Amino acid sequence: MQFVDLAAQQAQIREKIEANIHQVLDHGKYIMGPEVARLEEKLADFCGVRHAMSCASGTDALLLALLAHGIGPGDAVFTTPFTFIATAEVIRLIGATPVFVDIEKESYNIDPQKLEQAVSATVKMDDQLHPLPQIPKTGGIKPRAVIAVDLFGLPADYDRINAIARKHGLIVVEDAAQSFGARYNGKPACGLADTACTSFFPAKPLGGYGDGGMCFTNDDAWAEKIRSLRVHGKGTSKYDNVRIGINGRLDTLQAAILLAKFDIFENEVSLRRQCADQYTARLKESGLVVPIEQEGYEGVWAQYSLLAADKNTRQVIQEHLKAEGIPTAVYYPIPLHLQTAFADLEYIKGNFPVSEDCSQRIFSLPMHPYLTEELQESVVEAILGAGSDMNA
Ligand SMILES: *Cc1c(COP(=O)(O)O)cnc(C)c1O
Repeated sequence: MQFVDLAAQQAQIREKIEANIHQVLDHGKYIMGPEVARLEEKLADFCGVRHAMSCASGTDALLLALLAHGIGPGDAVFTTPFTFIATAEVIRLIGATPVFVDIEKESYNIDPQKLEQAVSATVKMDDQLHPLPQIPKTGGIKPRAVIAVDLFGLPADYDRINAIARKHGLIVVEDAAQSFGARYNGKPACGLADTACTSFFPAKPLGGYGDGGMCFTNDDAWAEKIRSLRVHGKGTSKYDNVRIGINGRLDTLQAAILLAKFDIFENEVSLRRQCADQYTARLKESGLVVPIEQEGYEGVWAQYSLLAADKNTRQVIQEHLKAEGIPTAVYYPIPLHLQTAFADLEYIKGNFPVSEDCSQRIFSLPMHPYLTEELQESVVEAILGAGSDMNA
């Protein structure tokens, strides 16, 4: 069994993918060819956002968003420690300081109440109010932005996050790397904050055959800046450079492949949602904590994740499934505040108890649009059967 079955997807649209690739080979515009603009237009439309700017990866999308907002040294960027490294890596890369905020245990997303505390603590430089990073001795850091992550494809609570951000004059970036295709109070993901960033890494809900990403915004000036930053800070032309940028374009070939995949994307989202409903219906009495979708949320189920009673139980279940040929994965085994790469921030174990607890107990099941009911049933049976290993 595959954790994500890209071959089954390819079998549905192989001809279309080949035709699109051949078109690029024929016109030869490998950099910023017509497929790039077409993809940007279609995805902007799908997300109900004015501007979509493709780029080389989800990580570059986050980097471009922070650069476009002028964030850098001396700035505090609030984010969750329960996410992929890229979310916080880009903050550090541009010299700003990540201020981690724990998650809500029901959604695995940033906890708005703790966000409010973290902002106050940063302003007052008082780590009694909320755990803070080791702050440069140069006079503190200034709250500038929040990167909220839509983990596992479930949007964060943007009504509350955006309200807190407005109150404190912060920019909100939506890390929608896992949530393209999700909805929150009827609005599509990638349109829920000032700027949003998604990823086309092959295993994401809308994945290409390589790296790729996209930024979204309704703000004309930010859009213009992101378009400039992704091509070495270009001005009126490629050889007029008005700011320091990066080489962060999406390949035309990748755009051509994504266009073919986008044609079947909406159907795939509903298949993913059916698959998640089926898992939940079958596993809610299993003793494992199943994921919940509160009123107003429609996740895209980049991952279907469960909480075991403890680390040992997780291991027993994972080994039992593995023996039956069923792959599982742990997202994420080490919360970011405890990663070596962030050791200089001097966070300690115990700072973010919900993230730390989840990292010990969480695991994810195979999840993709082509997981048949029979395959799903065998996953469920194996999980229910793992109980006997635990009693042994
Ligand atoms: C995948 C991912 C990224 C990075 O995307 P890439 O395209 O791999 O660079 C960023 N944030 C989250 C939450 C992700 O899952």
